Amino acid sequence: MKIVFANSAWVSAAERLILHGGSWQSVRLRVRYGLIIHPRAGPVLIDTGYTPQATRGTDRGTALRLYGAILKPQLNAAEQPLPVLARFGLTPQDVRTVIVTHFHADHISGLSQFANARFIASDAAWSRLKARTAWQNLRHGVFAELFPTDFETRLDGLSSKARIAPRGAIPGGADLFGDGSVVAVDLPGHADGQFGLLFAGMERPLLYAVDVQWLLAALVQRRTPGFPASLLAEDFTAIEPTSEVLRRFLADGGEVMFCHDPEPKSYDLDGESV
Ligand SMILES: [Zn+2]
Repeated sequence: MKIVFANSAWVSAAERLILHGGSWQSVRLRVRYGLIIHPRAGPVLIDTGYTPQATRGTDRGTALRLYGAILKPQLNAAEQPLPVLARFGLTPQDVRTVIVTHFHADHISGLSQFANARFIASDAAWSRLKARTAWQNLRHGVFAELFPTDFETRLDGLSSKARIAPRGAIPGGADLFGDGSVVAVDLPGHADGQFGLLFAGMERPLLYAVDVQWLLAALVQRRTPGFPASLLAEDFTAIEPTSEVLRRFLADGGEVMFCHDPEPKSYDLDGESV
């Protein structure tokens, strides 16, 4: 099984917003998404990163336009999903599965590009999203116009998957492909229904922990940012317990990756020659 991560875009944030006690200096962050070449499931995307649908799409509502104008993501054309798939000889039609870790714009904005894909996501979070008004969803960082109109019929909910029990510091979760190769691990705190992905079979077990923190330093140095980041979190009180799970995993020899940490990792496309 091959796993690579690509950087869909760059965004900037003042360090102190993402690292407790940090400076006002701006940090350039990645917006990763992943591609798994799975022996049985074929090419599987892990989210889609930021794509033009979020930054330039004509279907965008006022709130999404405003969000784009404030965050100003700089798309990384070379590592958008389509050119990255092409590097592996794949087209968007070849992608049968997109794992959607949570419903924020920088994770779902490209979903409409994958007409043949089913979407593995938290069906519980999807039900809650449907029960909320558009305004309430905006407060949860969810822009409804980014979902394909047939999202629900293509939703392959986590609740239907067999569960794998934790083993020591290795967290348990939902077995996505029935072979233990990719396990969805609940990571409450940042967003409703957020889960990460455990790849326990790698030489060094890997946990892609998405947006539990922005920076690895915030995890390792116990520097979870407080206000105003606390306002944006779905459940701020859950961030520390979730971070503690990740620290135990690290201490046990595992590797943790986040979506936005700027340091290159060995799984990053720009860190290897394809
Ligand atoms: Zn997020």
